[in-house]
Amino acid sequence: MTVSYKIIEHAYDILVVGAGGAGLRATLGMAERNLKTACITKVFPTRSHTVAAQGGISAALGNMGEDDWRFHMYDTIKGSDWLGDQDAIEYMCREAIPAVIELEHYGVPFSRTPEGKIYQRAFGGMTTGYGKGRAQRTCAAADKTGHAILHTLYQQSLKHNAEFFVEFIVLDLIMEDGACRGVLAWSLDDGSLHLFKAHMTVLATGGYGRSYFSCTSAHTVTGDGNAMVLRAGLPLQDMEFVQFHPTGIYGSGCLITEGVRGEGGYLTNSEGERFMERYAPSARDLASRDIVSRAMTIEINEGRGIGRLKDHIYLHIEHLDPAIIHERLPGIAETSRIFAGVDVTKEPIPVLPTVHYNMGGIPTNYNTEVVTLKDGNPDHVVPGLMAIGEAACVSVHGANRLGSNSLLDIIVFGRAAAIRCAQLIKPGDAHKPLRKEAADQAIARFDKIRHAQGGRPTAEIRLDMQTTMQAKAAVFRTQSTLDEGIKAMAEIRASFADVSLNDRSLIWNTDLVETLELDNLLSQALVTISAAGNRKESRGGHAREDYPNRDDANWLKHTLTWLPDNQVKIDYRPVHLYTLTDEVDAFPPKERIY
Ligand SMILES: Cc1cc2nc3c(=O)[nH]c(=O)nc-3n(C[C@H](O)[C@H](O)[C@H](O)COP(=O)(O)OP(=O)(O)OC[C@H]3O[C@@H](n4cnc5c(N)ncnc54)[C@H](O)[C@@H]3O)c2cc1C
Repeated sequence: MTVSYKIIEHAYDILVVGAGGAGLRATLGMAERNLKTACITKVFPTRSHTVAAQGGISAALGNMGEDDWRFHMYDTIKGSDWLGDQDAIEYMCREAIPAVIELEHYGVPFSRTPEGKIYQRAFGGMTTGYGKGRAQRTCAAADKTGHAILHTLYQQSLKHNAEFFVEFIVLDLIMEDGACRGVLAWSLDDGSLHLFKAHMTVLATGGYGRSYFSCTSAHTVTGDGNAMVLRAGLPLQDMEFVQFHPTGIYGSGCLITEGVRGEGGYLTNSEGERFMERYAPSARDLASRDIVSRAMTIEINEGRGIGRLKDHIYLHIEHLDPAIIHERLPGIAETSRIFAGVDVTKEPIPVLPTVHYNMGGIPTNYNTEVVTLKDGNPDHVVPGLMAIGEAACVSVHGANRLGSNSLLDIIVFGRAAAIRCAQLIKPGDAHKPLRKEAADQAIARFDKIRHAQGGRPTAEIRLDMQTTMQAKAAVFRTQSTLDEGIKAMAEIRASFADVSLNDRSLIWNTDLVETLELDNLLSQALVTISAAGNRKESRGGHAREDYPNRDDANWLKHTLTWLPDNQVKIDYRPVHLYTLTDEVDAFPPKERIY
């Protein structure tokens, strides 16, 4: 190697990369079990995107009427358009109940019913009696549930002496003989590089919403962990499934929670019609997100959009009692005022389907261990590596996630990671030394990007990527637009070789941070659009105009995508259509009507 960097070495039982809800719940659980745990995060923990979650976290507590975790399980499987793994969904929905009660005991300030129980609201696709009634299952702390959870978990982690490395950018995984041995990270504060060694590395790095132009996620949501996995020669799963949330504010993309419709809000077109009644006669505005986003897009495409350009839809809550808005949706009222100039007690909010969530990610089993297809085994466990939260694809959301199931996913599987690590690792187990050249490849990539002196600024390449994804991998897709998109994305990604940086310093160099993030986003964008072009059916968030139906005979399977030598390679894993225990039977695929 030509360059030499001073490298500081560390050894821990466990590394958790990411301090969002998933990373913090795992960190807390590990520390509680006396595992020496480092949580490494590029932003201050309570600035992670989880802080923005509004509507709530689902669990069949039954505080507002009859409920059962099996109803929740059925709704989640139907919401996933049968692509979710039913063993993992069973685990999540059953464990939801103790995991949410635990959050309450940790100190999350949930809203309350008059009797003092956790308040629960209605959310899309959540029913009782296997589709018969409407469930109130989503536990809420007003419209700031993510904020409440994140702050509570951070305080609990500090109490249990977890160690935090804040504003450290993890660059790559350290792999040896097919196992993960730790990570290489760069400290923004003093510019030093750090080699962390551990028995288990848990990726909790979140989604990659910023590969699109209009999304509800924070600018830091760049899927760094997913890209590290691709660079390690491992696959990502179901990347074609990107969720468009029906109600992003027109223009800014800021989210208006589905909880608004749960509290009685509804959508209208330019004719003042409550059009969801035509698309989902029984669930109407509370059908699942893929259904509502498709319906809104059809209304706009058929000329019934709102405004001069007829390009958006109205969301109404002006009929609700202002006292309810003030008590349960205060953040929404503020966001609408600032980003749409609207007083929600008097006028409707202009909204548009906006990229919101990635169902795809790093494939894992329900114990959160990363799996890959190896020698014909679709469940081969990669030693030393776990993934949780939006970065992972367990897969509990399949082709479409139900609202309030992601906060649940991050809590249940953050907790599961800690339970599993306590089974696998004894506190203080000895470390094998790393090979001398263990970090060379990771350092070489970092150094190359740092010294890039081509002709194109980072922001220009990023805008090309974002507008291409927005136009070519949208709510509705066809082979020709996807093929154009795949070609364009491959070219845009190749143009990264010509990126140029203004600043080479190692201390607080945000230009370098954004360029490393862009490199990560580009590989995810390419596998996403390639997987979309490959899947010739419509299912959940993947709606093909040229293949309008779900095709279980050919496509009831998970897509795996690798990116060796810059070529996308695709293979498949079977969907788990079986349960974990005999407390519930599997739900065989059937037609999905709301
Ligand atoms: C506006 C909005 C509202 C939402 N509302 C709800 C809701 O009401 N209910 C619900 O169920 N879901 C909701 N969701 C979805 C849900 O909030 C997210 O899916 C979930 O919070 C993701 O949590 P996470 O822990 O996986 O990732 P994040 O919270 O995104 O955290 C990622 C962490 O990884 C760290 N990280 C990333 N890359 C690196 C790196 N290279 N080096 C070091 N650290 C790194 C970051 O610093 C951060 O700490 C919402 C999402 C958005 C965007």
